Amino acid sequence: MRIWNLPVIDLIPFDELEEERPVALVTTLEDWNAVKDDLDHLNIVWRADAVDPIVQQWANLTMDLQQSNLNDAELAIYAVGGEIEVDAAKYIAHHTGLELTCLPTALSADSFLTYTSSARDQGSVTHLETKPPERLIIDVDVLAVAPEDLRAAGICDLVSIATALWDWELAAEEGQNPEGMELIPWVADAAQAILDGALECAEAAGAGDAEGLKQLLDCLALGVQLCNQIDHTRPLEGSEHYFAYALENYLGKKRIPHAHLVGTGILLMAEFQDQYTEHLERALKLCHIPQDSVPEDAVGLALRGLPEYVRKHAFPYSIAHELKMQ
Ligand SMILES: [Zn+2]
Repeated sequence: MRIWNLPVIDLIPFDELEEERPVALVTTLEDWNAVKDDLDHLNIVWRADAVDPIVQQWANLTMDLQQSNLNDAELAIYAVGGEIEVDAAKYIAHHTGLELTCLPTALSADSFLTYTSSARDQGSVTHLETKPPERLIIDVDVLAVAPEDLRAAGICDLVSIATALWDWELAAEEGQNPEGMELIPWVADAAQAILDGALECAEAAGAGDAEGLKQLLDCLALGVQLCNQIDHTRPLEGSEHYFAYALENYLGKKRIPHAHLVGTGILLMAEFQDQYTEHLERALKLCHIPQDSVPEDAVGLALRGLPEYVRKHAFPYSIAHELKMQ
């Protein structure tokens, strides 16, 4: 068993970042445009736009970099943007053996802290083991001016603890946790404390306040490392995530950020779990997670198919397995 690490995190303005090496950049036009003036001192020798979280695309980008006749030994990979860029860059860095530095433009997910790349494949999500970035650069002034609905959207990957813990406990009660995923009470308590920290900073982080964003980052980092220690993600991912993954199949070409789908999943699943949801809903609102961006018919279809979906893709036992939809 390997216990993965978090990246080294530097809280510095992007324009103070020192980098001697030539840079292979993974970004998207929109995210790059938001910060390029702060990064004009980088020597960018290769650039890729990350489009879809699909392994074949990541493999093509990797091959393109390898065939570009750059002196590999000197190159540094940089991911600038959100989870789509980061997941692609982690894959490329893993397969080329190059060091990865991530520069998030919003705290929109926890992917810049994890060692996996989440690939979409045949209607579901596979968390491929790649590697964590070696270095994470956090510029709170950049995060503060990120689009409101993305700025602190990573809170959804923490508020999900409320529904995920409930599922983990349900599975324990019903003897449905497989070997290696048994309920560990102190881990559940630690996750609850992280959730409390996230709920506490929701207002400040959502408003772009520096201390609030730092606390949200702390909660994201602790949540990821907690899962790294136990080698699974049950404290952070349960039925709300399964629902979010199922929902992606009913959105057609409409692109909705992962966090927003998870937000919808949290409120729905918490209700099925008979949980008090007011404080969860409040935190999501304070972080500007839209409550109406997902088309209702897609929600209905995803819900109806959920019990079958979670079995088909062998997700760990949760309330989603027990839903009886008409
Ligand atoms: Zn997530």
